[in-house]
Amino acid sequence: MKEGLVIKSTGSWYTVKTDDGEVHDCRIKGRFRMDGIRTTNPISVGDMVEFNQDKDSNVIVKIHDRKNYIIRKSTNLSKSSQIIAANIDHAFLIVTVNYPLTTSTFIDRFLAAAEAYNIPVNLVFNKVDRYREKDLVQLQELKNIYQNIGYKCFEVSAKTGLNMDVLKEEMKGKINLLSGHSGVGKSTLINLIQPGLDLKTGEISESHSSGRHTTTFSEMFELDFSGYIIDTPGIRGFGTFDMKKEEMFHFFPEIFRTSKHCQFHNCTHMHEPKCAVKKAVENGEIAESRYDSYWGMMSEDEELKYR
Ligand code: GDP
Ligand code: ZN
Repeated sequence: MKEGLVIKSTGSWYTVKTDDGEVHDCRIKGRFRMDGIRTTNPISVGDMVEFNQDKDSNVIVKIHDRKNYIIRKSTNLSKSSQIIAANIDHAFLIVTVNYPLTTSTFIDRFLAAAEAYNIPVNLVFNKVDRYREKDLVQLQELKNIYQNIGYKCFEVSAKTGLNMDVLKEEMKGKINLLSGHSGVGKSTLINLIQPGLDLKTGEISESHSSGRHTTTFSEMFELDFSGYIIDTPGIRGFGTFDMKKEEMFHFFPEIFRTSKHCQFHNCTHMHEPKCAVKKAVENGEIAESRYDSYWGMMSEDEELKYR
């Protein structure tokens, strides 16, 4: 019996790397059922597995418990889900306040989904070399908002190399997921972090990602200073994610903390009297942009969310 980390998944074969650096191609036998989720592809990059040598192939017999994972719902008739990455240490959301603008709404949706998936997020503000005064003010405001909540923020430039050492230090020895709008400089950053990595960072739209070949494949790349970057085509944010409206405030950490002081234990923080959250927004302890994002997600049509 050997143990290792899954670094590549094609849906039928899994590449597993053991602690001593050996790489083995493995497969699974029969059907696994993971965490009660019906899935055609129960193992993903980031999984720790145990495997046996079986005649002329290696067979995975055990998957270790995960600290988190991302699943993608298939849009096909079987309604099965795909686990596309597991045991992520951090997601890095690459953000630009200009050229192009990443909106607060986009950031907050990403953060809420990551909270729901139990994945820590760091915000990486790229292209700081290009910012004029107005952009720099905006940058500072956003940093204040997100740092106060507890998210780590980095200011970087993939053009000048500013703070790349700090970013690399943060990624060292970890399983890292990089996300962001197209155009924010994700590919340029990855090339600086690990020159020669040929990532398929181009995003696949949700409608295309239901194709069988694109959904099952995922890969992690080893960083020469230790650690991995997950490259899964199609993960921009976390796609649509199921959450009950009454649980939404759990995924806005500062709203969740404040909600303990609301008069009603089932307060939605929208219309109720004596709501500590609304009060905190009024006196500036909770950012309006964050509350707006919360309101927007709470008011959203369910139909849209699950489409
Ligand atoms: P991706 O779509 O997120 O992978 O973005 P790219 O890496 O392709 O970058 C988009 C554009 O932004 C390219 O023209 C890059 O040269 C440029 N770019 C990336 N990072 C920086 C940066 O830090 N500063 C400036 N000025 N331009 C950048
Ligand atoms: Zn409330």
